[in-house]
Amino acid sequence: MLYAEVIVDITSEALDRPFSYIIPEEMEKEIAVGASLRVPFGTREVRGFCIGISDRCEMDPGKMKTVSAVVTDEETAEARLVALAVWMSRTYGGVLTKSLRVVLPTKKKMNPLMIRRAFLTDREAAKNYREKLTKRQKKRADVIDSLLLEDGQLVSRLVAEYGVTLPIIRGLEKDGVISVLASEKVRRAGEFSGRAGEPVILTPEQAKAVSDIRREWREKKRPVLLSGITGSGKTLVYMELIADALREGKQAIVLIPEIALTAQTVRRFVERFGMRVSFLHSRLSEGEKYDQMKAARRGDLSIMVGPRSALFTPFRNLGLIVIDEEHEETYRSELVPRYHARETAVERAVIEGANVLMGSATPSLTASYRVETGEYAGVSLGQRYGEAILPETVIVDMRKEAMAGRRSIFSEILRDRIRECVDRGEQCMLFLNRRGYAGFVSCRACGHVVKCPHCDVSLTRHKNGRLICHYCGYEMPDMNTCPECGSSHFGGLTLGTEQVEEMVHAEFPGIRTLRMDYDTTRGKEGHTKILADFGAGSADVLIGTQMIVKGHDFPNVTLVGVLMADLSLNADDYRSAERTYQLVTQAVGRAGRGKKRGCAVIQTFAPDHYAVRSAANQAYAPFYREEIAYRRILHYPPVGTMMAVLGSCENEKLLSTGMTYLKKFIARIDPGNALMAIGPAPQSVGKVRDRYRQVIYLRHERMDYLILARDKILEYIEINSGFEKIRVEFDMNV
Ligand code: ADP
Ligand code: ZN
Ligand code: ZN
Repeated sequence: MLYAEVIVDITSEALDRPFSYIIPEEMEKEIAVGASLRVPFGTREVRGFCIGISDRCEMDPGKMKTVSAVVTDEETAEARLVALAVWMSRTYGGVLTKSLRVVLPTKKKMNPLMIRRAFLTDREAAKNYREKLTKRQKKRADVIDSLLLEDGQLVSRLVAEYGVTLPIIRGLEKDGVISVLASEKVRRAGEFSGRAGEPVILTPEQAKAVSDIRREWREKKRPVLLSGITGSGKTLVYMELIADALREGKQAIVLIPEIALTAQTVRRFVERFGMRVSFLHSRLSEGEKYDQMKAARRGDLSIMVGPRSALFTPFRNLGLIVIDEEHEETYRSELVPRYHARETAVERAVIEGANVLMGSATPSLTASYRVETGEYAGVSLGQRYGEAILPETVIVDMRKEAMAGRRSIFSEILRDRIRECVDRGEQCMLFLNRRGYAGFVSCRACGHVVKCPHCDVSLTRHKNGRLICHYCGYEMPDMNTCPECGSSHFGGLTLGTEQVEEMVHAEFPGIRTLRMDYDTTRGKEGHTKILADFGAGSADVLIGTQMIVKGHDFPNVTLVGVLMADLSLNADDYRSAERTYQLVTQAVGRAGRGKKRGCAVIQTFAPDHYAVRSAANQAYAPFYREEIAYRRILHYPPVGTMMAVLGSCENEKLLSTGMTYLKKFIARIDPGNALMAIGPAPQSVGKVRDRYRQVIYLRHERMDYLILARDKILEYIEINSGFEKIRVEFDMNV
């Protein structure tokens, strides 16, 4: 006898454990891991997923229930996704149902979007009918006239054009003059159309990259990291390999960071692959997403492009997963399960027998390290396509500027360069790693900082006279004097994009600016419009946060100013140097994408830091060497694995006590201190929405050791009533 372990599809964490059911003999062949089943549960019958099959069972078979049916309508493609969810929950923690909900996002069937068209049942009969209509029945006559001219029009169009009402349409239908046929419309990500076009001719370097990757996959099937500066043609290489997969009758998933999913990207893919490609993005409705997934499952699509959730597209025969801008932070989910799309893609590829190709101009330390250890294969592109040449870079030591008594946010050299650039009729981008007007507000007399009462972050001053919390949205009126000591030496400290914009206007009268940050892009098409306006030349200077440094191609931009290159170096995170390197490299890469040579001016208080230096020289290798040595010494990922144990609670004292107990418990299960536990300490933001947050970091060479520790911690928490009010989550970093 065979038994199925079944996860019952009910929204309750208490039910997050498999139940065993007897598999009736006639279903034995049909049921596999991932199969969707109907099973008796309590007094009802519910849907469930099979997550394991065995021929043994600890329970008394006489008391066990039997699987009622196998649901065969749409489970086949999902089977492997369920297996992936099991892996995700095992690797990243969190209950299995949460992982299942991520990989099978829209379980509830959405109503299909129906479109209805009106057809004449018989032209001659319709003409006769029309003759007999009275003057008062003009609307009916209009509809028939219109259909005589063009049969099969959309009912909605008839309604809109002739002001007819639905009862009139129904009346005509009842009289047998017309018939209305409904058909299902596939909701699509935006309206675009296209025919598959001709592939471009690759440069010798690009062609070699393609053939190297093909050879790798014929022989070893390792994931491939394609590193190449922006503009070197990585996207074209992806397309060649996607075309390979399609030729074999397989499908491909292309992950890109949401911010890079512009009309430009969409157009390129549609031009190459026609309507076999579709796009997912976060602004799609549930219905639209459901339709996309259904179309993919049915086989109507071959390529799905989108942010990390596109990874779970239920293709039947997945051949390739591409991850563009592999280093991006957005590939890491901040919700449980805290999965990383790169790692999860590699696992999905193993399950599906597919290949993985990831690309970046600034590869993550993790991916580069995997190439070094041979887990991934590395392929690179060294040249930019066409005549575009790398920009000149200038590092400005802002400490010297300050010593010389210059207080402006623009160094002398940057000011000169901006003026020259604008005088030549070219464009400039100013990049600042901050948002808001004047950053946080503090008192220069007593040091008091105005913080959000619900979150442990300082409020940000906005021009509209409000102080705003960027974590929970809390707002309060701005103030001129310190609420603590009454001093009037009270105001903004650091720099925001709004302030930069004002300073640009003060410094360069008449200059035209556009600003792109959290506040100006909140609207639906916010950033698309700003970028389009800038591309069309409606401003001389684009000022923005990290959003402006990603992937946009503006041939007329010949100057990039990085105002505070080292802001991200101060973040208390082992990845801060990596992040600084990536941001500065990308910012520099924005200059001179056209035929003119560009220039990047990098202003910094840490001009000798290897992250700043390497980025200025666009030299990855020296950066990697320094950074990996540092990670190695401290056993940080990717050399070791790190797991954050995240605790949160409304009661600060209770949280401290609980986390301290956890730390002691960890010491008990790990007497040799192999786990290198650090903490508990407040998380980088110590309170959000009135919940206090603390963290314990555990590091170990091997992930399975940390998973084991996590299981023991979970058991401990479960049997200890002291943890009832404390939420404990885990974040696995590799
Ligand atoms: P990446 O993805 O590395 O940033 P892209 O694939 O976007 O690079 O290429 C940058 C630009 O150069 C694109 O406009 C692309 O069409 C063009 N390009 C690159 N290689 C070729 C080629 N072999 N033939 C024609 N155009 C090319
Ligand atoms: Zn004060
Ligand atoms: Zn807040």
